[in-house]
Amino acid sequence: MQKFLEKAKGIYNEGDYLAIRYAVDFAYEKHKGQKRASGEDYIIHPLSVADILIDLNMDSDTVIASLLHDVIEDTDISEEEIKSKFGAKIEQLVAGVTKLTRISVKETEEEKEAENIRRLFLAMSADIRVLLIKLADRLHNMRTLNFLPPEKQAKKAKETLGIYAPLAGRIGISWIKCELEDLSMKYLYKEDFKELNERLAQERINRMVLVNRIADKLDLEIKDVVTPGYEIKGRPKHIYSIYLKMKTQDKDFDQIHDLIALRVIVKDIRDCYSVLGIVHSLWKPIPGRFKDYIAVPKPNMYQSLHTTVINEFGEKFEIQIRTFEMDKVAEYGIAAHWKYKEGKDFFNKTSDARVSWMKDMLEVQSQVEDSIEFVDTLKRDVSLTEIYVFSPKGNVFNLPQGSTCIDFAYRVHSEVGNRCVGAKVNKKIVPLSTQLQNGDVVEILTSNQSKGPSRDWLKITVTSSAKAKIKSFFKKQTKDENIKLGREMLEREARHKGYNYADISNPNWLKVIIDRYNFNSIEDMYASVGYGGTSTNQILFKLIDFYKKSQALSQAEALLEKGVSDQHGQKTRIQHKHSGILIDGYDDFLIKLSHCCNPVPGDKIIGYITRGRGVMVHRENCPNMRNVEAERKMPAAWSNWDDSVYTAKLRVESDNRKGILGQLASVLTSLKLNIVSANARVLKNSDIAVISFGVEIRKTEELENAIKKLSQIEGVLDVHRDNR
Ligand code: MN
Repeated sequence: MQKFLEKAKGIYNEGDYLAIRYAVDFAYEKHKGQKRASGEDYIIHPLSVADILIDLNMDSDTVIASLLHDVIEDTDISEEEIKSKFGAKIEQLVAGVTKLTRISVKETEEEKEAENIRRLFLAMSADIRVLLIKLADRLHNMRTLNFLPPEKQAKKAKETLGIYAPLAGRIGISWIKCELEDLSMKYLYKEDFKELNERLAQERINRMVLVNRIADKLDLEIKDVVTPGYEIKGRPKHIYSIYLKMKTQDKDFDQIHDLIALRVIVKDIRDCYSVLGIVHSLWKPIPGRFKDYIAVPKPNMYQSLHTTVINEFGEKFEIQIRTFEMDKVAEYGIAAHWKYKEGKDFFNKTSDARVSWMKDMLEVQSQVEDSIEFVDTLKRDVSLTEIYVFSPKGNVFNLPQGSTCIDFAYRVHSEVGNRCVGAKVNKKIVPLSTQLQNGDVVEILTSNQSKGPSRDWLKITVTSSAKAKIKSFFKKQTKDENIKLGREMLEREARHKGYNYADISNPNWLKVIIDRYNFNSIEDMYASVGYGGTSTNQILFKLIDFYKKSQALSQAEALLEKGVSDQHGQKTRIQHKHSGILIDGYDDFLIKLSHCCNPVPGDKIIGYITRGRGVMVHRENCPNMRNVEAERKMPAAWSNWDDSVYTAKLRVESDNRKGILGQLASVLTSLKLNIVSANARVLKNSDIAVISFGVEIRKTEELENAIKKLSQIEGVLDVHRDNR
């Protein structure tokens, strides 16, 4: 504990360090008396996890959350307590890595595990730091797995190999991925692991001698050509990757030729290619084994030149060439450029492919109800190896292994996928279901006559994004049909009622209806009519009503332009029946309260003569009234407003805590105010909730009172009248 604290003190600033120390003390206190399976005090575990995260350069919030990551699960501490002691940010991170213990008694073990992984996925797609904590946690648990009973070892190892190691690979932290894989293999394939380990140990001396010989020879050749400061080193291959190669390529240990591997790390990209040239002039490259991941980085941003060569003694070895910068990315992945101060922003602002794949998965997630099915998809998605294929123009696309021409078509563009009628691979026409191979040149044949994808394509695609795009095509297609149908129904029914739909479907009126029924667009409205969600009458009655009013208004405007009322010298004051507003010379049904500033009685108001929509009443200080033509403005006053009711909008900003909406609403109700609308959302990247209420009020005093009462609620940051 002392060693850990000293390390943290050397890295974090004083405030962060004190917070970390507080978390250490808290975790120590809470886990006191608990032991790990190894017999050690439990606190060793959270300290070790936090230590791994410090080495990954993580911010103090992540380190603190990792210290607390087991207190909810294993002690009597609640999430609320974490929140009150360490704040909402830390609590969210801790909650993200906490397993659900009581889901439902009916669920099987498998369902529970799947549900937990799904939950983890959701938490990490909201904040990737959750994944980093989980990986560090898993790494330490795997390092100490020998203390658990064999069944548990196998179970954990299987889970690690199936999901956690691939996830580490996805975000590019290769050292964690490799260590997790080797540890899993040690428990899952015990015999094989032991045998391989022994053979590698036996030949270690031979390998080292060879590596040194090669390194010396290479060094001699490059030292006058390449910028000084470069490094040449032998590279230990991790056991699992050798094992995988033997299994998938059905080879013996002796046939694996890149057991001997060297890495050359240089200053810049030019040096990389210089070294490559020298390597290929010293030794013979093996055809098909050269890969330029500098020009075409792997999806996890890995960059390097790989080549396998053979020397005069028939010894084969692999050489990787990269810059120091690329080396850092290869080992630390997404954590490579992380500075501990940047916190959540770093990850959420990045359009990094190592994180953005989660967006595709999120879409899949929302469509799959069954957690086991989702986790299977996730596992497949993260563990698929990638292949590279080219468009005829030479653009490179990376796709998971097993991808077909259709996956490629959708990868290029949704429209290319939707209009795809055939494909050529390496200039030969092939069936669309053809699985693509690394390096294939793929050309998609499209046709404007194509009626779109076939449902069978869902079976021959492997990428989740192609599947999602095909599904959304079908959803949209049915929608398009409904839009057409809905419009026709409205036209027919309008004719029936003696109107021409073109006359009564003024966009302004339609907009009112769209808002009133909460449609997203006019297309949505037509679609809803088309499938019968909304009746034609609901829409037509309103449109006809608007139409009639507008007819009357044109007459009134015609009169106004003639200056009729002035000629007579009379200024009639007519009271608006509904709004209680007086405006000289205007009939009440032409008067409307504006929605931009929602005036209420007591406000100073003015009237504004619109084109074709009567007189709109605004608050005098409404920003929209600042730059309007003076002759369109006219004085207005409230009259007899005691029994009139107005809708005012209130905007409340508060901490995003449970129950706040209910509390706000109950305060309004206790003031005898009628709530007509409510809307809550959370501001992006923050913990601030914004809640808007539409409230019916009679006087401005009522509004002021409400604002005062709402402001007094705990957690409320700001309350004001919303003028928008
Ligand atoms: Mn743990």
